[in-house]
Amino acid sequence: MNVKSYLTTVTLGTLLVACGSNEKPVVSGETYSLFSPDSATVVKISYIDGIPGYSLEHNGKIYIEYSPIGIKTDLGDFSKGLIVKNISEAGKIEGSYSMKNTKKRDISFQGNEYTVTFGNDTTDLFEMQWHLQKNDAAFRYFVIPHGETRVCRVLEETTEFVMPEGTTTFLAPQMRAMGGWMRTAPSYETRHKADAQMDEGLDVKDGFVFPALFKVADNGWLQLSETGVGSNYSASHLKYNGNRAYQYVFPDEKEFNGNGTSQPGLALTDYTPWRTFTFGEDLAPLAETTIQFDLVEPLYEASQDYKYGKGTWSWIIYDDWATIYPYQKDYVDFSNELGYQTVLVDGRWDTQIGRDSIAILAKEAAAKDVGLFLWYNSNGYWNDAPQTPRGIMDNSIKRRKEMQWMKDNGIKGIKVDFFGSDKQQAMKLYEDILFDANDYGLMVIFHGATLPRGWEKMYPNFVASEAVRASENLRFSQEECDMEAYSATFHPVSRNAVASMDFGGSTLNRYYNHKDEPGSSERKTSEVFALATAVMFQSPVQHFALSRAGNANAPEWAVEFMKAVPTTWDDIRWIKGYPGKHAALARKTGDTWYVAGINANDDDFKFEIPAEILANANEITVYSDSTDLKGSEMKYNSSNIPEIKVPKNGGYVAVIK
Ligand code: CA
Repeated sequence: MNVKSYLTTVTLGTLLVACGSNEKPVVSGETYSLFSPDSATVVKISYIDGIPGYSLEHNGKIYIEYSPIGIKTDLGDFSKGLIVKNISEAGKIEGSYSMKNTKKRDISFQGNEYTVTFGNDTTDLFEMQWHLQKNDAAFRYFVIPHGETRVCRVLEETTEFVMPEGTTTFLAPQMRAMGGWMRTAPSYETRHKADAQMDEGLDVKDGFVFPALFKVADNGWLQLSETGVGSNYSASHLKYNGNRAYQYVFPDEKEFNGNGTSQPGLALTDYTPWRTFTFGEDLAPLAETTIQFDLVEPLYEASQDYKYGKGTWSWIIYDDWATIYPYQKDYVDFSNELGYQTVLVDGRWDTQIGRDSIAILAKEAAAKDVGLFLWYNSNGYWNDAPQTPRGIMDNSIKRRKEMQWMKDNGIKGIKVDFFGSDKQQAMKLYEDILFDANDYGLMVIFHGATLPRGWEKMYPNFVASEAVRASENLRFSQEECDMEAYSATFHPVSRNAVASMDFGGSTLNRYYNHKDEPGSSERKTSEVFALATAVMFQSPVQHFALSRAGNANAPEWAVEFMKAVPTTWDDIRWIKGYPGKHAALARKTGDTWYVAGINANDDDFKFEIPAEILANANEITVYSDSTDLKGSEMKYNSSNIPEIKVPKNGGYVAVIK
């Protein structure tokens, strides 16, 4: 039905399904199995009393119990009175591609794809396409057109996810529509809760955001998310229905100040987005998955070879008042001294600096090989946020004129803030900003934004989104600083596992003010923790929360590390962790591995560097908080590296060459 142009190699199906020929008719009450190429992942399809369903198993353990399938559209209710008309043979899919802006550079995968056709006695109504890999699964719907009908509106997806008894959740709530700062929510900025009982979800009226992490009884870990969401659909989130059942739901109709429908429109040449499952006995498949990118393709070509790297921004330490020419000029010099590539000039630059002076600043920055990112309000007619510039990014005529001005003055990128909706209309705005920005050679960061769903590959000038309870909250509250390590342990296996994350952190300030003195919120984490999160939190462009005062007060080895840390990575290995307690992973760039660990627990966090990573090590530089190795940089080789013990709020980094 669809040419899979995103694949470099495609072998279409002769693989027989083990349970039988899968020829019509599929019999009510009987179960038909779909397999990943290695047979580890099994989806079982069935229908009983007119309601179709599925279950998901991996290595013989159940991750999703038998759960209903269905979709309600303005063309009809396709959730009952159904029979399974046909299940295709497996189409064997092999893909390989390269990305410079995510966790892994050279990616290859193997999957089996099946098309399951649902209908009634007289006609076929819709298809469900399944894609199964070793530790991932995904499905999407296709509504079959009839007669002259070429469009539909999706009212509800009735597909559920029934978790096995004993499952606990590691979820973050969806924010209330038109809540938050100046009615800018939802923007994925709530705190995760570890090991919650499913039924606690009955009290969470707005549901939960993606990615959604579950510890499935004693079977293993499961992450639900979605990918391939652009202007063709709305973004979804999860609602808990009780009885261990979760369901995809569409945005609240109150979002975007009530403008725009919450029910996505679908051209009947198009699929719904892919809904993804990643699972395994431990967290490694979740941290390392590339399913978000395997299933999508670039929607346009990059207008140039975008250059990623490091930068600074004054706002996180100084606040709005410092977005004036002298301080931004100083941050250009500061970035240059650190060997960084960019400075992010935050909100109100249009009134507090002005366009003429920004043009001068950009020229002065360019002379020092520093580029500028400029902040914009997405607004529009959907929030009350007063920060300017506003009224530019929301329509193509104004923003293309502005982007031409940016191009003329050598601006490198934009950070657009305060979207506050997952509606299809909002998804189209994200897509249009990205597409226009590419015409003018601009990279794009989104804040106050939805979770990016496959965007690093779909939109080649997309850098990262916030979509997390990020560094600004550390500035806003002491409680957040007290919880910093706790929240950080979730990100490598949850939020940051599915998309680049613009956290804006890794400050060396002890206090969130420009004098680095008591009087504002106080960071409780160690310097090594800050270095570890610079490795652990992945975004190809990092605007670290550095300041002159903070750097002056920090040990020299910490500043030197922040100068040297890469922002683009070739590979990842999950090492060990438990969300809410601790996390350790390794990222590779060139021939160098960076091992990073953090701990939020009262007990020391102990882990070992995988033998595979130590095998070819010549020199290992360690940054450690353990009491016997306090606070300095030490060099080892693979035979004498000391035991790793990370104290509470501490970190560990090893650079292995
Ligand atoms: Ca924010």
